[in-house]
Amino acid sequence: MSRIAYVNGQYRDMRDASVNIEDRGYQFSDGVYEVCEIRGGKVVDMPRHLTRLQRSLRELRIDMPMPLAALEIVIHETVRRNRVSYGIVYLQVTRGVARRDHAFPVNPVKPALVVTARGLNLQKNQDTAAKGIGVITVPENRWPRVDIKSVSLLPNVLAKQQARENSAYEAWFVDHNGHVTEGSSSNAWIVTTDGKVITRSVDSGILAGITRAVLMEVLAALQIKLEERPFTPAEAYEAAEAFVTASSQIVMPVVRIDGRNIGDGKPGSISMRLREEFHRFSAFS
Ligand code: PMP
Repeated sequence: MSRIAYVNGQYRDMRDASVNIEDRGYQFSDGVYEVCEIRGGKVVDMPRHLTRLQRSLRELRIDMPMPLAALEIVIHETVRRNRVSYGIVYLQVTRGVARRDHAFPVNPVKPALVVTARGLNLQKNQDTAAKGIGVITVPENRWPRVDIKSVSLLPNVLAKQQARENSAYEAWFVDHNGHVTEGSSSNAWIVTTDGKVITRSVDSGILAGITRAVLMEVLAALQIKLEERPFTPAEAYEAAEAFVTASSQIVMPVVRIDGRNIGDGKPGSISMRLREEFHRFSAFS
């Protein structure tokens, strides 16, 4: 079955779908994006993702490409047309098409909207979680506005590639104070030997992950202690457990950091429990 993309007002076969070469997303990475998980054909936590999208757009002074309710319809329709039961839906909004000039277009242009959806292999994801993943640490080299979910992802791309070339799945950025910020496409967490779950606060250096926010509700409900504070790679090496969160991964156990085993080198029990409980706390639409 061919895949269908929503592109600026039309549902198109992906083989024919295209955007203008002067789209500012293509020229300047002048745009933002969101990724939501799809489960049982439903979109997971869509209202939270759309709230974050609106915030990202506001920070960059890009207009919403259409009213929120219309955007929800486009997302659902893209999922439906691609017949995705488990997978992800991706949406990207750029400032639009204008003759190439760094400053914003003088005459306002319509923001461009692309929505795609694709199926993922749930069993493969579960198998990865059952084994756990390896992480490497790399120096933080991103701009300070990582709170904006911008499509400008070169440092993330390079970090992820470095992870792959070192037989790891994810790279954790480490800031100039020696603290882990987050992964190239995930938030970073550890569990201390006395059972406390640690993750950096959203005040600086990280994206406010939706999975992170929902997981905090899971922790509260399960009465697991949470500490929002920075941690170092050295503390992570000695942790009982580690994991990452992202919409496409949910809770993914980390069993190796920079080649060192975490705990007994197997996915931790708290990480696996959080993974299992997670969707009881998600909103499906
Ligand atoms: N940090 C970064 C840099 C990311 O790219 C992502 C995934 N989009 C996350 C954190 C996790 O965010 P979420 O849980 O909303 O997918």
